[in-house]
Amino acid sequence: MKLSLVAPCYNEEANIKRFFDAVKTAFDGKVTDYEIVFVNDGSKDGTYKELKKLYDENKKDNNIQVLTFSRNFGKESAMYAGLSNAKGDYVCIIDADLQQRPEVVLAMLDKINSDEDIDCVAAYQENRKESKAMSGIKSGFYKFINKIADVDFVNGASDFRLMKRSMVEAILDMSEYHRFSKGIFSWVGFNTAYIPYTVEEREFGETKWTVGKLFKYAIDGIISFSTFPLKLATAIGITTSIISVLYLIFVVLQKLIAGIDVPGYATIVVLVLFLGGMQLFCLGILGEYLSKIYVQVKNRPIYILKEHLGKDDED
Ligand code: UDP
Ligand code: MG
Repeated sequence: MKLSLVAPCYNEEANIKRFFDAVKTAFDGKVTDYEIVFVNDGSKDGTYKELKKLYDENKKDNNIQVLTFSRNFGKESAMYAGLSNAKGDYVCIIDADLQQRPEVVLAMLDKINSDEDIDCVAAYQENRKESKAMSGIKSGFYKFINKIADVDFVNGASDFRLMKRSMVEAILDMSEYHRFSKGIFSWVGFNTAYIPYTVEEREFGETKWTVGKLFKYAIDGIISFSTFPLKLATAIGITTSIISVLYLIFVVLQKLIAGIDVPGYATIVVLVLFLGGMQLFCLGILGEYLSKIYVQVKNRPIYILKEHLGKDDED
């Protein structure tokens, strides 16, 4: 098996068949030896039915696997499951919603075959189809996280990428529960080449991203690949301690030398609120890390499979 396409699907009933056809058309005569690993991430619509139908229709070609989760575990888990079961020497992660065209995979293959030294070809969005404010926020986030994290994050790079088997194995070795793939791809190393692509409009179904989810994702990324917030808490603590000692000296001198009674109420209220706020903020940072550790040590599986169609030893 040469190429595996890993396609996470969550409520994509209208896209499954069209995705499959698009791949077939794009690959026709160019890529013959390939499989598609669909991961049905606990879809609530007819995605499973569509996948089952597709699987039955193409059973003789033996080029489709369908992994069905017991519930929705999220795209990160779906990608992990797909990578775990992909059999190709090359593996490409691609969305099932046709926003990422299969034609781009051909360009990725050309690129990876053009230079032996390349282990991974990632597609990045040259121009984002989103509001100025949103892309401003995103590029600000990338600047920030690149400053504080141990690994490089490339703005605009998505999960849409083609990897050699060696890189896939390295990613599978990172079996952490809280998965932030943008960081993982970068952490494992390997030579990555980037090619620009344009994201298509979503024709059917809807995006699963909300502003709230994006925000949480950003925080997860920071917590997963940086200990900067913890150090920030220390820095805040030290700074406020120094300032408070200086202020204490100032107040005592005011009283002793100038004989001024410090007008107390407002100062005290402001200080109590400010310090209380800072303490809670720092506790919150600790809590974020603690909760990640807590979930990780429970060692729960990243996903639970309900069914695996097209598994080797099935027939
Ligand atoms: N997806 C998934 N599980 C989820 C959310 C999304 O498997 O919990 C899949 C989804 O079906 C799609 C891909 O991940 O194939 C990207 O999702 P989406 O289109 O919502 O993200 P966007 O393209 O808007 O970034
Ligand atoms: Mg999409």
